[in-house]
Parts: sequence; C-alpha cells; structure tokens
Amino acid sequence: MNIAHFLLNSTKSRPKHPVVVFREEPISFEKLTLLVKEKAVGLRKYGIKNNDHVALMMGNKPEYAIAYFALLSLGATVIPINPLFKVNEITYILNDSDAVALIVDEIGIQEVLKSREKLQSMQTIISLQPSEAIVPWSDVRGEPADYFLEPKQLDEIAQIIYTSGTTGKPKGALITHGNIAWMTETAAKMLELTAEDRILVVLPLFHAYAKLQGLLNAVFKGCTMYLEERFIPDVILKRIADYKISIFLGVPTMYTMFINLPQIKELDFSHLRTAGCGGATLPVEIVERVNAAMGVDIGEGYGQTESTVMISCFPPNSEKVHGSVGYPLPGIDLKIVDPSGQEVPVGEVGEIIFRGPNAMKGYYKKEYETEETIKDGWVYTGDLGKQDEKGLLYIVDRKKDIIIRGGYNIYPREVEEVLYTHPQIVECAVVGESDPTFGEEVAAYIVVKESATEEEIMAYCKEKLAHYKIPRKIYFLESLPKNATGKILKAPLKKKTNVNAQ
Ligand code: ATP
Repeated sequence: MNIAHFLLNSTKSRPKHPVVVFREEPISFEKLTLLVKEKAVGLRKYGIKNNDHVALMMGNKPEYAIAYFALLSLGATVIPINPLFKVNEITYILNDSDAVALIVDEIGIQEVLKSREKLQSMQTIISLQPSEAIVPWSDVRGEPADYFLEPKQLDEIAQIIYTSGTTGKPKGALITHGNIAWMTETAAKMLELTAEDRILVVLPLFHAYAKLQGLLNAVFKGCTMYLEERFIPDVILKRIADYKISIFLGVPTMYTMFINLPQIKELDFSHLRTAGCGGATLPVEIVERVNAAMGVDIGEGYGQTESTVMISCFPPNSEKVHGSVGYPLPGIDLKIVDPSGQEVPVGEVGEIIFRGPNAMKGYYKKEYETEETIKDGWVYTGDLGKQDEKGLLYIVDRKKDIIIRGGYNIYPREVEEVLYTHPQIVECAVVGESDPTFGEEVAAYIVVKESATEEEIMAYCKEKLAHYKIPRKIYFLESLPKNATGKILKAPLKKKTNVNAQ
C-alpha cells in the first residue's frame, strides 16, 4: 500500500475541494493530483526510480506537497531536510542517508551549492530557483497519462526522518509506508477529523508532526490544510480567527507567544475545536492561560521521530488533564520500566518504552544505536515518565536532562513549571551546571517580560520548591536557543554553563 494512494482516493471523492490554501490561493485535490502526476513522470525522466533516496529541502509551500507525493508515487524514499541547514548539516545528512538526488528551494540552494563538492552519492540536484548546472524544477515535467503508482509493501521504507539532534548528532529513523498509513488513520480518528476541517500548518513540513497531522491528514480525510510560511505570532493568531480554522497544530513556544498578545482576548476563535500541542513540555500555567483566552482546551500529545509522530494523546470525549500527555494510542503497548527493563509500579517514574505499528524500523546504517534503542521489539524513548491508575501518561523529563545535585535527582521540568508561574517570566530552561561541591548545580536561563532580579526569582522559588531544587545560578537572556520547530535547545545552554564553571 503506497501512501500516495491517500491522495488519489480523496481526489476521486472530492476533486474540487481545496486540499491546500497558500497565500489565499486554494489548490484543489484534482489540481494537486495533476501536478503530482506531471512531476512524478518528469522525475522519472531524470532517472529517479523505485527505492532511490531523495532529499527534500524546502520551506512550507505547495511544491513541498507536490514533490513529496511525486517521490512517493515513484517508490522513492524521501529524506526531509531543514531548508535553513548550513553546509556541515547538509553534508552530514545527505552523505549519511546516501541521497542520490535532492530537490531544493530558494531558501537552501546557496548552502547546497557550497556543499556540492562534499556530497558523495549525489547525482541530481533539482532547484526551484534556477541556478547554473542545476536542473530547474520547471523542467521536471511529463505527461500525466504516463503516471503509475509504484506498489509498496507496508514494511517498505517511505522516509528517513532525521531526529532533531536536540541531544546529539541527528539519526535517520526509518519510517515505513505501514507506519505512516497506520499513524495517519489513527491521528485522524483521534482528531475526529472530517472532510470539512481546516487545519492551519505553520510548523515546518519537513518535521514529522506537521507533515503527518497537517498534510497527510488533510490528504487522507479530504479536508483542507492552510499552509503558512513563517510563524509571526500576531499574524498567525489573526489567521486562525479569519480563516475559521478548526484545528491548529502548535508547539509550546507558539502558545507562550500567543498569550502575550493583547488581541488574543478580542479575536473570534469559535471555529477552533482543537489546539494541538506536542514536541516539548507545555507548562500547565501556559495551558490554563491559553484556554481561558482562546476558549479551547489544548490537547497535549507526546511522541518522537522514532514513533512516526505520536505515542499518546487525549482521545475524543476524554477529559483533558493538564500536565498529562494523555493515553497511549489504541493499538500500541506502553510500559514504564526501571534501568533493568522491569516494569515499575503504577505512579513511579521510569523510562517510557513502547511497541506497535508506529515504531520505526531502526536507524539507517546505525546498528549499534538501533540495538540500544529497540530491545525485544520495544522502543526505548529516552524519556522518563509515569502513568496513573487510569493509564494517563505524564512526561517527567528526558533521561539525559536529569540534574544530579549532591546525590539528589532533580527533574528540570518541575523547576520550569514553577518558574513559568512567575508573572515576569516569559520563557525559561533549567539545566545542570558543573559544580565542584555538588557535582551539578541547578541553573535557570530566563527571558523576562520587563525586569526581575536574581534575588526575586530565588525567593519566589524558595516558597515553592524544596531547598535542593532552587536554581542557584540564574542567567537572563534576550531569547533562548531553539530548533526549527521552536523546541528549546538545552545542549548549547549546558555547554555555556560548563564553560562558565571552569
Ligand atoms: P534527538 O533525538 O536528536 O535528540 P529530539 O529528541 O528532540 O532529537 P524529536 O523526535 O523531534 O527529536 O523529539 C522527540 C522528543 O521530544 C521526545 O522524546 C520528548 O523528549 C520530547 N517531547 C515530545 N512531546 C512532548 C511532550 N508533550 N511533553 C514533553 N516532551 C515532549
């Protein structure tokens, strides 16, 4: 079952319905399918064939969807890449993934040209912006009548998605047609998606979350994706209201920015029935403020690249419990285990492991990392969590982020949750800093609204946290380092604190 079937099926049932709206221009299912067919036949002429590894390096635009479905139709394996990547990152991923072709837009072309000499397996570079000795995208054309869909088995690879690299070098997760098909159908059920839904996608399409919950869900269910290029908080907030969006896919930093906009209280969000959130910790304080202002109830979900997208969420009609990431998806098994792999008692913290139809096949060419991550069919997430008697899952923190101060374990998330309740704090990240006495000390990086002093913050924490958890180092920054999906990157902060400590 090639997942490009989703597009053909919806085109049969709703040919004239818009599937993508970009810069106010709607593209119907019929039109998208025609363009996909034209490009698939054109790409074949340039030698791209079944099982070829082809990288897709583009910002959010309709061509993303066209190229993605054209490549899948040919049976190629898609390797999505962040268009803002620089030479070293491009070279690493293109060589690691053995990509033989690349489709790039105007955002990334200059860096690609600089990387060109270093690319080991690359044969064809296709660019949306004409450039010397590069195939122009406009030349990639063929007769739609010559189109055919390459049949695929469920366990064949559809895409290699590189992890964000929040904790180290990106690894290529092997995601099959079966993983995506199951995940799309399940996500559509969890969202109670209908053909009339309007999904706003401003998160990058190269990331699994936006691609699946936005593009693939719209294509699968026959509804519409409103595609945005850039996250400008006030513009996007207004568009959610103006376009009568029913589903918004967000990440915590977006909501953090929304609540600081005064117009949030004036706009009409009555069409918005689902505000999704995932990818990182969503402080309870933020959920409550957004819910009060927008009249929605943010549904937090949890997942990772290795799980195709989601592992848990709140199913329809279930009561949302703030601070929890919902229940494991129906059809997957989830356990909380101790370091020896034994299940811990209900309510106790351990590593989250899962198995099921959303589990990746492994990491491309990384046998050691695959064996470290998948044991006896269970995927070890590297995340610490706990489950209550009802099965509700709570993310405690990443295993790698725990701070050990004088033998006590401290979960940064717990400290962050307290900091977020401080009226002056807009954003924060808590990390461990090397310390000669305690091994590690709790350090807080903080962005404030107007002003706050170190003493004030410490005094505030003293009232709400046990003595050993209080941040002893406080750093005020203008902004926190983030990746392309808005996830706060702790690694550069940890490096900074360690350097400072030396
Ligand atoms: P790398 O594996 O390269 O370090 P990454 O883990 O950031 O990168 P992703 O797969 O994009 O790559 O992110 C998944 C991780 O994000 C999860 O393992 C978890 O730590 C975190 N995460 C996802 N959803 C949530 C959530 N709702 N609450 C807290 N953390 C979350």
